[in-house]
Amino acid sequence: MNSFNIETLAIRAGYEQTHEQENSEAIFPTSSFRYQSAAQAAARFSGEEKGNVYSRFTNPTVRTFEQRLALMEGGESCVATASGMAAILATFMALLQQGDHVVSSQSIFGTTKVLFNKYLAKFGIEVTFVSQTDFSEWESAIQPNTKALFLETPSNPLTEIADMSAISALAKKSDSLFIVDNCFCTPILQRPLEQGADIVIHSATKFLDGQGRGIGGAVVGSEAVVEEHVRAFMRTAGPSMSPFNAWIFLKGLETLSIRMAAHCQSALVLAEWLSKHPAVEQVFYPGLTSHPQYELACKQQSSGGGLVSFRVKGGQAEAWFVIDQTQMLSITANLGDVKTSITHPATTTHCRVEPTDRIKAGITDNLVRISVGLESIEDIKADLAKGLDCLE
Ligand SMILES: *Cc1c(COP(=O)(O)O)cnc(C)c1O
Repeated sequence: MNSFNIETLAIRAGYEQTHEQENSEAIFPTSSFRYQSAAQAAARFSGEEKGNVYSRFTNPTVRTFEQRLALMEGGESCVATASGMAAILATFMALLQQGDHVVSSQSIFGTTKVLFNKYLAKFGIEVTFVSQTDFSEWESAIQPNTKALFLETPSNPLTEIADMSAISALAKKSDSLFIVDNCFCTPILQRPLEQGADIVIHSATKFLDGQGRGIGGAVVGSEAVVEEHVRAFMRTAGPSMSPFNAWIFLKGLETLSIRMAAHCQSALVLAEWLSKHPAVEQVFYPGLTSHPQYELACKQQSSGGGLVSFRVKGGQAEAWFVIDQTQMLSITANLGDVKTSITHPATTTHCRVEPTDRIKAGITDNLVRISVGLESIEDIKADLAKGLDCLE
């Protein structure tokens, strides 16, 4: 399978046909598995014999998803989790301990920040937040007890690009793990492991599913890290993915490459259109040549991605007006769906972030985020124009 291209892996990898010779992947909704004898049960439990034991840690449908995503990301191993947040939690619980220190981009998913500040802190793991784009801040945040560097690129919602090769070199120098949340690009646009990351995190909830149906996540990396540490934690702590959800994500992966291409194409058209709209103050999209890190984006990712953010002229009232005037777009915080979604980050995804931190991260009250779906781009523009045209 390793020799196939990513589009083929997304459709074919990781599956073992059953005796029924089905062409579409079967779902195995079973909590446990039977053994031929007491001796076999003992061998499975001790790990002497490989094979299924209990679906908290092994399930054929979940394993197919794991193997497929691992191959697509170019990683040795993958463990699926109940959500993207469970993937982040499992990674940190498995690999860090009391007294360890993490350097994280400040421009990360709001809930991840809360996880770090409220829960990791409770167990004596300290996190220093630095600028996504100022490398000197990363360098000076390193401490003797730094064990991990964490980021998402592009960031949500401002699409700032982190320089993965520079940060991976810093991670190696400081003997830390470099962890990248690859939710926005997916392996179709960007493979962080090839750019020096040790671990890739996914929220499968977003583009991997692609149709807004289920919650799930994954951790991809070397066998030593993923199997011995993260899977061992998952087996004991239990935030595992259900076979039903794994099947949904498998079906999502099959169309990921053509969906990502279509998301990116429409997002670029929308970003260009918004840039010219008189009611728009600023547009954030890595595929625009005006993006301050356009060159770096071109180096790291094959396309601009599906998310476009913009500041309307005015404040919260104007941003809410544009959102409320839409009739087709979904007012929801989810992203990566075939349905275009529109969000006011300051009062939704980032509402639990301290106002001073929020402003520091550029999440101003006039900011609107669009996850560009697969409807006609003309209809998407027309829906946004309803509010924007009134603000001129
Ligand atoms: C949504 C999201 C998560 C969390 O994933 P869930 O599946 O909602 O738990 C983590 N990171 C990023 C970048 C996200 O967008």
